[in-house]
Amino acid sequence: MSLPRPSKIVCVGRNYVEHARELGNEVPERPLIFLKPPSSLIAGGQPIRLPRQSERVEHEGEIAVVIGRTATDVREEAAWSYVAGIAPLNDVTARDLQKADGQWTRAKGFDTFCPMGKVVPIGEVADRDALEVVCRVNGRERQRGRVGQMAFSIPALLAYVTSVMTLEPGDVLATGTPAGVGPLLPGDVVEVEVVGVGSVSNPVEAR
Ligand code: MG
Repeated sequence: MSLPRPSKIVCVGRNYVEHARELGNEVPERPLIFLKPPSSLIAGGQPIRLPRQSERVEHEGEIAVVIGRTATDVREEAAWSYVAGIAPLNDVTARDLQKADGQWTRAKGFDTFCPMGKVVPIGEVADRDALEVVCRVNGRERQRGRVGQMAFSIPALLAYVTSVMTLEPGDVLATGTPAGVGPLLPGDVVEVEVVGVGSVSNPVEAR
């Protein structure tokens, strides 16, 4: 299995109302975007390594969109034509460091903090308006969310992000996580599934 080699991984914070609320936040007026470094990417089966600096690392199951052609200032109506495919992604987060820093780069940027599954071509996705993400830890469901619950839709996110920065082929947009985030501990196995698309499963170990 080969991972894409993105020039950047753009992520969206607080894009599901219930998740924003569970962490004591409101859904922002406009998409809240941040970057994860490409060095954080791992494939299914590779271990998520818990850094010594954190006492609270959490899973965030997300639907990832992979870009197919160079995208600058795309219109929302045309946004899907820039998408190569869909993949499951885990936006692993050191929650304590996120709160301590204000900036999210350290909390989101550790090596192994971005498991991503196989990219399924958009033409093979049965219903892109009904995509659903599920996250399980040791087989137990922790999160479930559908694109219809997003504060900002995938086309709206692509229009917003590309009004700021050009997205290149292979770049990844992680579209936010639904409610139910929780801790990962050594020995856990965490799986993110995009229903009907595929899943990515990773063991968790101490660094
Ligand atoms: Mg996230």
